[in-house]
Amino acid sequence: MQGYHSPQLDVEVRLNTNESPEPPPEEFREALSAAARSIDWHRYPDRSAMKLRTRIGELHGVGPEQVFAANGSNEALQTLLLAYGGAGRTAAVFEPTYALHSHLSRITGTAVATGDRGPDLSLDLDEVKRVVAAHRAEVTFLCSPNNPSGVVDDPAAVSDVLELVGGIGGLLCVDEAYGQFSEHSTMTLLGHDVPLVVSRTYSKTWAMAGARLGYLIGPCWLVGELEKVVLPYHLDAMTQIAGTLALDYVDVMEQRVQRLVAERERLVVEMSSMAVKVWPSGANFVLFRPEGIAGGLVWQRLVDRSVLVRNCASWPRLEGCLRVTIGTPKEDDRFLAALREVLT
Ligand SMILES: *Cc1c(COP(=O)(O)O)cnc(C)c1O
Repeated sequence: MQGYHSPQLDVEVRLNTNESPEPPPEEFREALSAAARSIDWHRYPDRSAMKLRTRIGELHGVGPEQVFAANGSNEALQTLLLAYGGAGRTAAVFEPTYALHSHLSRITGTAVATGDRGPDLSLDLDEVKRVVAAHRAEVTFLCSPNNPSGVVDDPAAVSDVLELVGGIGGLLCVDEAYGQFSEHSTMTLLGHDVPLVVSRTYSKTWAMAGARLGYLIGPCWLVGELEKVVLPYHLDAMTQIAGTLALDYVDVMEQRVQRLVAERERLVVEMSSMAVKVWPSGANFVLFRPEGIAGGLVWQRLVDRSVLVRNCASWPRLEGCLRVTIGTPKEDDRFLAALREVLT
């Protein structure tokens, strides 16, 4: 099998992995340094990560027993598949979407049932019905805003999918890694007897990809099952503290998200006057396809100008497509100038 790869090249403008272009606030870093000095390094960390889960729960109006935190939301999703996937079970995905959902399924021995999104890459309910009926997957994945398209799923459609999935005794997992960039969240559908989990990460909106922290919110019976299969003490003391302290700066995060959304709209306008097809995005990146020139060639010529974007050629149906992460206005200007040059 192939591993999961996103090239880490040494360039001046890195717009390929949807990180925040700005670091978290200085006050956060000071508070974290001070807190790090009082860690009991000779002791195991709090195995249940209670403080962190309580604070995350407060953010979403749920108790800590509904929060499962892990080393990145990818680990939370992997744990979900260790508990609910595995040999003889199936996970459903709707392509094109985040590659880790099918990748994590395969490495946990879970079969993958693949459906297609519609022509505009939005959810196609007839296709979801077909896949659910044909495969009766134990876990169905959605991603909204979707990576790499930026498409935000219609809340009514997500609600219909949840009903379909619940009807066959399955579980719906909605990956909201970019949730704060969008106006809709599936969190409103969560409930104790609802087979739904929603995952979030610190890597994007919280500007903390370096910390490796993510979580999912779900019914407490489900979170209890995840705790049975995850490695003991999987979340180290430093990560727990970093994740807790970060939540003191919600306003700063929200302002940063607003700046990135404004910047995203600027990019979309600028790019719409170039020879590229641009998809509307509800996230911190934009998917586009250069016209009359191979995407791979554009990717290389941008790298030659020290601008790195994501080549989406390996995704089904995204031949020739590239994805650019929203950076600082300066970085985005570099990208726009380089793209203009490459396309003329
Ligand atoms: C970036 C991303 C994640 C984040 O994974 P972490 O392990 O939390 O860094 C999860 N889901 C999607 C769709 C992403 O794009």
